[in-house]
Amino acid sequence: MFENLSERLSGVFDRLTKQGALSEDDVKAALREVRVALLEADVSLPVARDFVKAVQDKATGQAVTKSVTPGQQVVKIVHDELQHVLAGNDDNPGELKIDNAPAPILMVGLQGSGKTTTTGKLAKRLKEKNGKRVLMASLDIYRPAAMQQLEILGTQIGVDTLPIVAGESAVQIAKRAKQQATLGGYDVYMLDTAGRLQIDETLMQEVEDVRDAVNPRETLLVVDGLTGQVAVEVAEEFDGKIGISGVVLTRMDGDGRGGAALSMRAVTGKPIKFVGLGEKMDALETFEPDRIAGRILG
Ligand code: GDP
Repeated sequence: MFENLSERLSGVFDRLTKQGALSEDDVKAALREVRVALLEADVSLPVARDFVKAVQDKATGQAVTKSVTPGQQVVKIVHDELQHVLAGNDDNPGELKIDNAPAPILMVGLQGSGKTTTTGKLAKRLKEKNGKRVLMASLDIYRPAAMQQLEILGTQIGVDTLPIVAGESAVQIAKRAKQQATLGGYDVYMLDTAGRLQIDETLMQEVEDVRDAVNPRETLLVVDGLTGQVAVEVAEEFDGKIGISGVVLTRMDGDGRGGAALSMRAVTGKPIKFVGLGEKMDALETFEPDRIAGRILG
């Protein structure tokens, strides 16, 4: 569906006079194509603009290497810059702060974003890759089915869940999870908070109260990677109210181009730690800037 950026750029450079270095005009013409490619990949307009400006300064005046075409060279500059922005200062995005047992991890996000699924995936990963004893608890007092879903996932992956007690508030469940995690010698306890279809005050207040009750080591926002600009707005909202330590982008197995990742990183400054790549419990990978950069460029 999308024309590959390299092909587009070679078209641009074919029309330009060949020179020994990338001139300002060459770069400008190429960057118009880059901007379109970013927008098609669902990067938000202000982020695409800032990004293109940063690349313009880097590319102008660069000597054209003999072995590559000017188009390929611009693609490389753009790719490197994308990777740089996506990675930020995170050396190891998949690493979580889970020392000092029991470490609370708060999972937040809208309903349907993949929060419960991701809680299960991450618990499985912590158990198998990090050798941690994990306890999961659902705080979704509004949807008994969601509580049962987490219990089913727990059985499936061999991770304990906090027994369901009817009539408790989210904060009461969180405190009980903390107590059980302490008494039971767990390394980590994960709190799967209730989501709504849209952000509302009651939901945010509840998540804030839970946060204050357990003081999480990590607060991970789960967002649907296919929702583009909406995902970024959701992240800003949650970060402003709750304070998030990282993001998990789900549905990256879909045919979206991944532009949300760039907007997310540029706007919130928070690291993307994991990506969800399917419905199965092992379909979770650490975020790799290089791969997403390639995907954005098409
Ligand atoms: P929650 O309401 O945020 O807890 O969302 P769920 O965890 O119940 O997930 C909603 C739906 O999205 C389920 O059908 C999941 O299997 C599916 N889902 C979650 N993560 C992914 C993912 O990374 N890729 C795909 N394709 N589906 C996912």
